[in-house]
Amino acid sequence: HPSIRYQHELVEYNPTIHTFSIERLIVQDITKAMENEELFLVYQPKVHSRNLQITGVEALLRWKHPTEGFISPATFIPILEENGKIHEVTDWVIDKVCAQIAEWKQRRVSVPQVSINTPGTYVTSARLLQVLQHSMQRYHIDGQFIELEITETSVIHDMENAINAVKQFRMLGLSVALDDFGTGLSSLSYLRRIPINTIKIDKSFVKEVPLSEKVSALLSAIITLCHSLKLTIIIEGVETEEQISFISSIEKELQIQGYYYSKPLQAGELEEWLKKQLS
Ligand code: C2E
Ligand code: CA
Ligand code: CA
Ligand code: CA
Repeated sequence: HPSIRYQHELVEYNPTIHTFSIERLIVQDITKAMENEELFLVYQPKVHSRNLQITGVEALLRWKHPTEGFISPATFIPILEENGKIHEVTDWVIDKVCAQIAEWKQRRVSVPQVSINTPGTYVTSARLLQVLQHSMQRYHIDGQFIELEITETSVIHDMENAINAVKQFRMLGLSVALDDFGTGLSSLSYLRRIPINTIKIDKSFVKEVPLSEKVSALLSAIITLCHSLKLTIIIEGVETEEQISFISSIEKELQIQGYYYSKPLQAGELEEWLKKQLS
């Protein structure tokens, strides 16, 4: 792609052109990326804080572009969301995750649950429900093996439809987690109305623990609240021993996801990680 290369170099002098060309490249190349296995999934374990047992993994997208190298999902996901292609990509993720679950099941690799990130614009679509049903049937996957992560912001945006959608997912036997909790905070009253299973407290909170007393107090209050609502709690972005001990001092019954236990891993690496955990 000489023209792309050229534009890309040009951008060093002009950030506007850079943004534009990178956006265009992402939108143009994403379909090919799915076909060519440039796009793939990694899986980050979540562990229970009390016994350190794996409770599940989160599926995260990676894109190794042939000329641009690795493009971060933090870059390409928002662009695909804006352009609508994220729905197609989500269908692809659902298919890959179900295929992977089926393979693990067949080889007796024990991964309790795989979480799929669901973009806000897709959560309330009838198509999503169909795609999930279709892939689950195709690979003979039981709903208990899948969790959908939906962001707090997308839920508050369209509360009534989000509540309905979550009810439908639960009817398929799926679990639902509220992702990035605490970033879109308006009112907490909706937590009583939406039948989610799990809350993932955004990593921006844990980042300042235990340095900031205010954030530590807030985190502690959120954990207490979620616990009283009988929601499963996941703290994400946990990187240090200090953070672990602070969190454990507030609450023992929660799950932890973060570099402290493991980075996101390719399927084969995850299997190695699981073997080490058992030994
Ligand atoms: P997210 O859903 O909040 O995912 C968690 C992000 O935190 C991941 O970044 C993960 O690699 C990172 N992370 C995990 N542990 C730690 C830690 O200890 N410290 C720090 N600093 N970060 C940690 P990643 O993989 O770069 O993904 C970024 C975002 O892109 C995700 O945030 C999610 O919003 C989106 N994304 C990734 N994969 C998908 C996907 O398949 N579909 C959709 N719709 N969005 C995705
Ligand atoms: Ca997530
Ligand atoms: Ca998150
Ligand atoms: Ca996030």
